[in-house]
Amino acid sequence: DPRIRRIASSIRVVPDFPKKGIMFQDITTLLLDPKAFKDTADLFVERYTGKGISVVAGVEARGFIFGPPIALAIGAKFIPLRKPRKLPGEVISENYVLEYGTDCLQMHVGAVQPGESALVVDDLIATGGTLCAAISLLERAGAEVVECACVIELPELKGREKLNGKPLYILMESH
Ligand code: 5GP
Repeated sequence: DPRIRRIASSIRVVPDFPKKGIMFQDITTLLLDPKAFKDTADLFVERYTGKGISVVAGVEARGFIFGPPIALAIGAKFIPLRKPRKLPGEVISENYVLEYGTDCLQMHVGAVQPGESALVVDDLIATGGTLCAAISLLERAGAEVVECACVIELPELKGREKLNGKPLYILMESH
């Protein structure tokens, strides 16, 4: 798809951010190109329209950028999966392991009903820990996670293998 090339070239790579040795994939420059931003949303919308998805769950923070346009276009609700102590209502929590230390995602109880079909959205999959926690939250609430969708995959980190066979759809790989 020729749209992928434009999207890929709109993403800035920042060396040594947030620390030495990391090649940070900066999607804020994609957002500055309205055509690339729209093409990104369109590619996901084309894939997920008519698939019976009733829930789009976005992972804080960049899943909050790409998730809502998809949810609106396919007629699904949007659920923010947030870092601890941000959601005011009753929550369920899922801890996950980072390179140094642990992190946690939370979801509001009652946001999703048992049996709903969910799509999980984030900007990037690295080790897969974040998406794995997101999948667990939705499944604990009784939802069926149909697929995870990201703009970028860092394939060397083999995050895909952490998703327990859940399908992962990406627009591009980064090396
Ligand atoms: P994982 O849990 O798969 O190791 O890391 C993925 C999470 O970290 C995602 O929420 C993603 O936004 C963030 N992340 C890690 N590396 C990068 C990067 O190079 N660029 C961006 N935009 N996000 C990253």
